[in-house]
Formats: sequence, C-alpha cells, structure tokens
Amino acid sequence: MSTNKLFVLPGDGIGPEVMAEVEKIAAFFTKEGIAHFEIERGLVGGAAYDAHGKAISEADMARAGAADAILLAAVGGPKWDGVPYDVRPEAGLLRLRKDFNLFANLRPAICYPALADASSLKRELVDGLDLVIVRELTGGVYFGEPKEIVELGKGQKRAIDTQVYETYEIERIGRIAFELARKRRNKVTSSEKHNVMKSGVLWREVMIDLHKREFADVELDHMLADALGMQLVRRPKQFDVIVTDNLFGDMLSDVAAMLTGSLGMLPSASLGEVGAKTGRRRALYEPVHGSAPDIAGKGLANPIAMIGSFGMALRYSFGLGDLADRVEKAIAGVLAKGLRTADIKGDAAKSISTSEMGDAILAELRVA
Ligand code: NAD
Repeated sequence: MSTNKLFVLPGDGIGPEVMAEVEKIAAFFTKEGIAHFEIERGLVGGAAYDAHGKAISEADMARAGAADAILLAAVGGPKWDGVPYDVRPEAGLLRLRKDFNLFANLRPAICYPALADASSLKRELVDGLDLVIVRELTGGVYFGEPKEIVELGKGQKRAIDTQVYETYEIERIGRIAFELARKRRNKVTSSEKHNVMKSGVLWREVMIDLHKREFADVELDHMLADALGMQLVRRPKQFDVIVTDNLFGDMLSDVAAMLTGSLGMLPSASLGEVGAKTGRRRALYEPVHGSAPDIAGKGLANPIAMIGSFGMALRYSFGLGDLADRVEKAIAGVLAKGLRTADIKGDAAKSISTSEMGDAILAELRVA
C-alpha cells in the first residue's frame, strides 16, 4: 500500500479544533489498513508568527513542498490585527498559493438532502445538488497590468484594471476541469463573455480546441457568465463542472456556496502543476470558512468543511475516490440522523460539539 504524505497546517482560531477531527479519520484509515497516511504538522498564520515572527517558516515551506498534499484549516484573528503587513496571518496562505503556483481553485457545492431546507432556494431545486466550480486563480483582471489610478486633472481620475489571459493559462485550467469531469459526470460548462470581451473570445476558442484535441469523450458546453449566474439560481442541478476565469469564478462560486447553507459545510481545493519531486499535482485543501474567532475554543465549530476538504484530497491527490465517496456518505448519514452542530441546527432540538460531530462521522465510517 502506498504512503500518502499529508502536511497539516491547523492555523488559528477554530483551525486546530476542526483539523483534529480530520486527523482522527486519517488515523482510523491507517490503523485499519484502509489507506496509509503519514502526517507532518506545521504552523501557519498567527500561530507561526507567534513562534517564528513569520506567517510561515522556510522549514515548513520546504516540508509543504515535499508532501503529496497540504491540508490547511484557517488563519487570522484579532490577536494579530496589529502585526506588520508582510507577516500578517494571510501572508502565509498567499505564500503557499504563490510559491506552489496554485492556479486552479475548486469549489464544490454539494447539498446534502438532510440540509436542503437550509438553502435559500426551494428544496426541489437543491436537494442532491453536486457541482464544482473551477476558478482560474492566478491570472485575469486581479493581476493584469496596467493596474492603476491615473490623475487626469480637474478633479478627474481614471482607474484601470486589465483583463489578460494567455493560451497556456486557459489550457491548463481547462485540462483540470476536463480531468475532473472524467471522475464525475463527464460534463464541463465553460463560461466567459465572448460577446463583449476579447479574453472571452480566446477563452472559448482555447476550450473548444483543447476539447477536440484531448477530451472529446467529455461533454462540453458554453454559457455566458451572466446567463450562468442566472441558471445557477434557476436550475443548479443542470451543472457538473463549471470552468471560468478569476473574476467570474470569484462571484459565481460565492453564489453556488449559498445554495448549500452554512459556511461550515464548504470545502475547497487549490491545484497547481505536477511537482517534479512528488510526481503528484501540487495541492492545497482548505475549508472556505475563516478562523471564526467568535466561537474558537468553545467546541462549537462544524468540522464538516474541513473533513470534506480531506475528502477532496483523497479524491484528487491520492486517487482514493472510493474512500472519498465513503467519507461523503458518512457525512450524509450523520446529517440524515439529525445530528447537527450549532451553525446548522435549524429546528433541531439540540446541537452537538465539534468532536462529537467528528466521532459521529467516524462511527458512520466504521460501519460503512
Ligand atoms: P469566518 O469564516 O471566520 O466566520 C464567519 C462566521 O461564520 C462567524 O460567525 C463564524 O463563527 C461562522 N463560522 C465560520 N466557520 C464556521 C464553522 N466551521 N462552524 C461554525 N461556524 C462557522 O469569517 P470572518 O469572521 O470574516 O473572519 C474571521 C478571521 O478569519 C479573520 O481574521 C479573517 O481574516 C480570517 N479568514 C481566514 C480565511 C482563511 O484562512 N482562508 C478565510 C476567511 C477569513
């Protein structure tokens, strides 16, 4: 059985609490001989600043680079509000994304049947929803040059952002989306605005070309980004994998997130190129939520987003799709039994703690 090297960064606030639940599950898989995980732990964010005066140490960067996958919980909190800008907690996360060139952000939106009533949409529209948004993360209008505000005189200024994409950037994100679709329901929807943007014209051309050359077995369709926003709230279950640029992806992934209810339920992955040392695609898995300082240390945090992020690592870094399915089924099973942490309590009579939720998912995994 191959060893899967996980580098774990619990970070700040509720981070260590939710990460502890993932470690329980990984230890269970290892102990039972289901899969073998070797776990190293490091510091990031405020915790790293307190220990080393940096948001992540060079030693931890090196260990992150040698791992098959990085699992990060969350960084930040009021304690570090006053620290110098370049060593603020978020700098640790940004450094990981930048140094490992994590250009693809995957945000699944899964609606567990037991939570369908927590969505702002009608139950029948979201019950059983399972889509992924693949957002380009390192290019486009957030990074393009020129990016400036120019003084024009007479009280006038001009603000400029530049939307720019090159063929290779579109191809590599497209490849991620098609590969992902092959592990799911085999359908990709590519989204841009080729009707008004040159970058959209190129995006569409490159996707069509890539599809023809390498992924003809996958269904590909195209949808303008504004229409896609509308379809996401009208009939979200029509989508499997959506691939789009940095700006549209930023907005559309937040819309999709709200289809599913709580922040405590949402995992994510950021993927880069295949690493020369590991032969595996560089990958960082993290929940969408932050460090939630308001509930930290109280056992109130929902660990499902963190456990779901581990599930994504199983599927996309370790090729353990069956095990990822088991984890998702265990989460669904626990929710179907009516067990809830405080954030998803709804009308339930009582809620359970972070570790009780972790234990319940583990118990479900044991019988699965
Ligand atoms: P947040 O996501 O930490 O919290 C927003 C709200 O959701 C809070 O009420 C919180 O209690 C609740 N919440 C979040 N995760 C939860 C969970 N797992 N279970 C139950 N409830 C949960 O966002 P915020 O309050 O805007 O930011 C707090 C800190 O986190 C800030 O320092 C911010 O910079 C940082 N942050 C970090 C990341 C990251 O590490 N990727 C992302 C967002 C915010």
